[in-house]
Amino acid sequence: MTKVDAFLTNCRIADGRLVDIGITGGKIAAVGEGAASSSNSAPALDIRGDLVLPGLVDGHMHLDKTLTGLPWMGHAAGPSRMSRIETDKTILPHLPMSTEERAGNLIRECVARGTTHLRTHVDIDLESGLAKLAGVLAARERYRDQVTVQIVAFPQSGVMRCPGVLDLLDAAVRNGADVVGGIDPLEIDRDPKGQLDGIFGIAARHGVGVDIHLHEPGEMGLFNVQEICARTKALGLAGKVTISHGFCLGGVTERKAAEAAETMAEADVALVTHGAGGLTMPPIEMLRTAGVLVFAGNDDIRDTWSPYGTGDLLERAAMIGWKGDFRRDPQVEVAFELISAAGAQALGIGDYGITVGAAANLFTVPASCVSEAVAAHPPRKLVLFDGKIVARDGLFLAAPISIASEASA
Ligand SMILES: [Zn+2]
Repeated sequence: MTKVDAFLTNCRIADGRLVDIGITGGKIAAVGEGAASSSNSAPALDIRGDLVLPGLVDGHMHLDKTLTGLPWMGHAAGPSRMSRIETDKTILPHLPMSTEERAGNLIRECVARGTTHLRTHVDIDLESGLAKLAGVLAARERYRDQVTVQIVAFPQSGVMRCPGVLDLLDAAVRNGADVVGGIDPLEIDRDPKGQLDGIFGIAARHGVGVDIHLHEPGEMGLFNVQEICARTKALGLAGKVTISHGFCLGGVTERKAAEAAETMAEADVALVTHGAGGLTMPPIEMLRTAGVLVFAGNDDIRDTWSPYGTGDLLERAAMIGWKGDFRRDPQVEVAFELISAAGAQALGIGDYGITVGAAANLFTVPASCVSEAVAAHPPRKLVLFDGKIVARDGLFLAAPISIASEASA
């Protein structure tokens, strides 16, 4: 057996087995019953039968909008999406905390709750240019030893209705954004061909993926699902395109939703959901059965768009399960898959899972099985990133510590 730096012993894993997990150089080197007993030198940290699960993947959030770390501010926007877009422009530039600081505050909250990978959208608009991207890039660099951050250049205010935004999106991708975003090509821009040709053009030129906020209801949304899938196929972007929300899929007849699911599966276009309050939810089980990759994220966390949330993905999975009427264990396990393996696949994270060869990104939680962890979402005891402890007892650690030093503490 490979030399092991340290063991986590008495770990309950998702299949119910009680195993020891050996970690070497930030990777999982052994998973097995009694694996630690074959080594008499490596330090061992007893997990005492708690559940050990792979680090969580937040597939959709907005680090640049959060108010986390500031004194409480009541929700200021009106009831419409356009009001929230405009309110951002009056509030965010005048906060007493920079984008980098606020993004960092939220990253720490997420890591403390077991998130090891996240995809954040960052507003790119004429008023703020690339400033918010710079703030989130700085936060990503600061926390590179605790979490991976994938950035979507997000045209929150629209693309074609704001001439100059397409150039800014291109510049954002050249300056560190990983994915190009879009938003409601009909409802916001009234020019679906213009917006979709523009953003897919950027993706094709730079070899990056696309992630489009699609709030549009009914037939309007379905039209854009078809247009997105057609461009994904034409440009060879299978597996690199995500539809965020896709509320339309939950608001049309079953036959039309099934047709759209078939089109998405054929084009390999994924869907990310957060189980939005007050809006239709896409039919998750039907989409998965059709072969669509469905994953999940928290979306807005205590920010200018929503006062709710803490960054806890297990709680988010419980909300999605509650909204989707998932009651039996295999259904609750689906809710967990949305915030773990499915998210990892969508974000292109290859070395994922509690398995030999994967990165040692994981957390421990006092629960007997995955369904209990989702339903009760108790505080995470330990969170590991790259084999080091980055959070303990629900609190983020100022600097990662080794398993060996924790074992001897
Ligand atoms: Zn969003």
